[in-house]
Amino acid sequence: MRKIFIKCGKFFDGLEEVLRTNVNIVVEDDIIRKVGEDVVCPEGAEVIDLSGLTVTPGLIDAHLHLDNLHYWNFDSRFKISDEMKTLNIVHNAEMALQGGFTTLRYIGSSLRTYGAIDARNAINDHVFPASRLVVSPHGMGISGGHSDNSSNLGGNFYLSEALEGQLGYIGNGVDFFKTVVRKEVKYGADFIKIMASGGFASPNDDPCDCQLDDEELRTIIDTAHRLNKTVTAHVYSAEIAKNLIRMGIDGIEHGSLIDEETCQMMIDNGVYLVCTFQPYEEAVHMDEEKLKTKSPHFQRKLRKYLDQLRASRKLVVDKILEGKMTVGYGTDMVSVYECWESWHEFNTWRKEGIPALRTLRAATSVNAGILGLADQIGSIEPGKKADISAWHRDIENDIEAISECDFVMKDGIVYRNCCK
Ligand SMILES: [Zn+2]
Repeated sequence: MRKIFIKCGKFFDGLEEVLRTNVNIVVEDDIIRKVGEDVVCPEGAEVIDLSGLTVTPGLIDAHLHLDNLHYWNFDSRFKISDEMKTLNIVHNAEMALQGGFTTLRYIGSSLRTYGAIDARNAINDHVFPASRLVVSPHGMGISGGHSDNSSNLGGNFYLSEALEGQLGYIGNGVDFFKTVVRKEVKYGADFIKIMASGGFASPNDDPCDCQLDDEELRTIIDTAHRLNKTVTAHVYSAEIAKNLIRMGIDGIEHGSLIDEETCQMMIDNGVYLVCTFQPYEEAVHMDEEKLKTKSPHFQRKLRKYLDQLRASRKLVVDKILEGKMTVGYGTDMVSVYECWESWHEFNTWRKEGIPALRTLRAATSVNAGILGLADQIGSIEPGKKADISAWHRDIENDIEAISECDFVMKDGIVYRNCCK
């Protein structure tokens, strides 16, 4: 059995919002066995000295797509194969691991196939030195909806229609969506994602459009639950979110236009929110120069909903500070920063006045719960997987502290150590 003894400088366990000192950790193979101030080095253990760093659980990003290589080349998705996209997923997951994010929740993308499942399995088999993936292969939705990438070829109707027919997760009707859910689960989906509303980046819809009818939505949720899979949905408006909560959905992604009543329903029904502040940062704080670089329809929609975006942002920040609502840390890094640069959301939460350890709790134990892995990851406790990151900058006062990672361990294996 391989034993490792880790000496921590400052220490955050992922649960209690305090930084402790003089904590030691004993790892045996891939599992944390002992944690505490009085833990001594076992005989024959390898010693890792992180006494100059702040030690945290490996961080988790709960909302990523990962199939895209560069944010400035978003349209490349029409020009590359699913095989190349799968390679991109692995590459982005390798980069994320080096940045201290040991688990990523992959929330559907433009692949027609199940490359994300293969990537997840290969990483789990240690074929690639990359972050663990928890996967929903596709965001299922309607023709012309937010996940119908063929809409972007709308000027060429023939090509658009041919592509739409190839996207197995785009369609209409109860039977279609029932089949898609079962197929996702058949090929190994960890959870199910619905593109329930329009979006800001899609050309021909509005963020408040309800794109599926009630029968279709209910079918997806019920079919997934019968197969013991949770369901989350891309949603902005309060009305659609409330409708889905009444239908028994497990989570909401974005929720950038929700209201007080929606938050209360989420608390009452144990529904989580992954709020993804960062992509709307330029709109909420109106950076005109950066906004001008966006597509005309993106700019138009952001301006239309600006007041509501700001009000909802303030509401969700208040809910995070209040601590009753389950709010996860997710970045949706697609078109603003590289897919692996998950630290940017930390910066955004900090600027909103959310304390550092509250933010990191969202990115660790709260996210582990959202992923259904609370018994395995998200905290440094005996019995958990040995996923550990460490940082040299001042976590509590430096709002970019997690942009520089010094140490990463996943499943007891060290993937980065700048202290050597
Ligand atoms: Zn997204």
